[in-house]
Amino acid sequence: MHNSLRARDMAYHFHSQTNPRRHEAEGPLLITAGEGCYVIDEMGNRYLEGMGGLWCASLGFSNERLADVAASQMRRLATYHTFNHRSNDPTVDVVEQIATLSPIPGSKVFLVNSGSEANDTMIKLAWYYNVARGKPGKRKIISRRGAFHGSTVMGAALGGLPHMHESFNMPGLNVIYTEKPHYYRNALPEESEEAYCARLIAALETLIEAEGPETIAAMIVEPIMGAGGVVTPPAGYFPALRQLLTKHDILLLADEVVSGFGRTGKWFGSEACSFVPDMMSVAKGLSSGYLPIAAAVIGDHIYQAIADEADRIGVFGHGFTYSGHPVTAAVAADVLRIYQEMDAPGRAAELGRRLFAALDARVAGHALVGEVRGTGFLAGIELVADKATRAPFDPALKVGALVEQRCRAHGVMIRNMGDVISICPPFVMTPEEVDQLVDGIVAALDDVA
Ligand code: PLP
Repeated sequence: MHNSLRARDMAYHFHSQTNPRRHEAEGPLLITAGEGCYVIDEMGNRYLEGMGGLWCASLGFSNERLADVAASQMRRLATYHTFNHRSNDPTVDVVEQIATLSPIPGSKVFLVNSGSEANDTMIKLAWYYNVARGKPGKRKIISRRGAFHGSTVMGAALGGLPHMHESFNMPGLNVIYTEKPHYYRNALPEESEEAYCARLIAALETLIEAEGPETIAAMIVEPIMGAGGVVTPPAGYFPALRQLLTKHDILLLADEVVSGFGRTGKWFGSEACSFVPDMMSVAKGLSSGYLPIAAAVIGDHIYQAIADEADRIGVFGHGFTYSGHPVTAAVAADVLRIYQEMDAPGRAAELGRRLFAALDARVAGHALVGEVRGTGFLAGIELVADKATRAPFDPALKVGALVEQRCRAHGVMIRNMGDVISICPPFVMTPEEVDQLVDGIVAALDDVA
């Protein structure tokens, strides 16, 4: 046993977002194969993946066409870089496709490897843009409590989840926080969605005026907040936010790492939420998670302001060895072609209707469930101790984690963020598999109730 996969993992692997002592006690869940929408562990147990892994695998886990694209690109040009004007054909293909799909006018695409790097890139671009415009004092970034924007130093600073900051003695990176638009949890009794939005926007304007708009560069938002609890904003929130930020010359950066490429039933979450950002970050669904690739997508107004001043202020000092890696670019370019062929937004909307019909009929009324919410093929289930008062469970009870464990026992993978269960399945699921996913969740809720 001492050289089993489990033992070797426990001996050598320091896991992401994992308690090391608990890992020593419990060992890994070793996934050794993927087939359609299932992943299979080393014992042969099959799990229907309701999260596409980590909000990624929109095309499931065994797309042969992508395997062939990767192999043939690796045989033709396995690696090269894009510094100092170099490029390669898969990179041209993928940036053209991203820019064409992008709702931001005149998009230019800066390739990176992860969602965190894409967000870091947007922040550095916002700072560089303000230096180019002669406004170097505009540096602060507004983010929202509960947000998740990645794990790099800046990504974690942007995030509004306490465990991503505490214990790191995070340096002062000039991030300021405002409330997330979580109507179910934070609206006042009897407050309408319109009144709730107006209150949040007014509070944000007070914050902007107190800090001084001349000190604020940008605000970063997930159109649909993912890890913070699949928070879908009330309809008027983003149009009002866009107006407020424009008034104060503050850039609006959309983190589309989860919500991009069809997930919301539109190509991008900003379209589902009725706003146009100045820049957006994309990752995850861009390659369906098959290889690490991400991008910051930049509006023409920002690009032109920067390009005009590069001789004076120096080139944009940023970029990664694997920015525009030919193999990751070739796979992402083909993923985008597959999304177009299958009409990914339409497919997500259709499967989402099936999912929400089943959740509304079989989950929303469950004693443990306060709210079912979401957009497109992205759903959250908020668990509560008391349906009538919306009182949350004592976090020490770890009810969400228990539901997640029981789902696994029923052959279904979901993800719990505290007491919100998230669902973000592959677009290649069959309608019957959507029903099976809900069967597993209902059985798990019944086990825990
Ligand atoms: N932004 C959002 C909204 C995310 O959900 C994530 C990851 O889950 C990230 C950024 C970070 O992406 P990555 O882990 O690829 O750095």
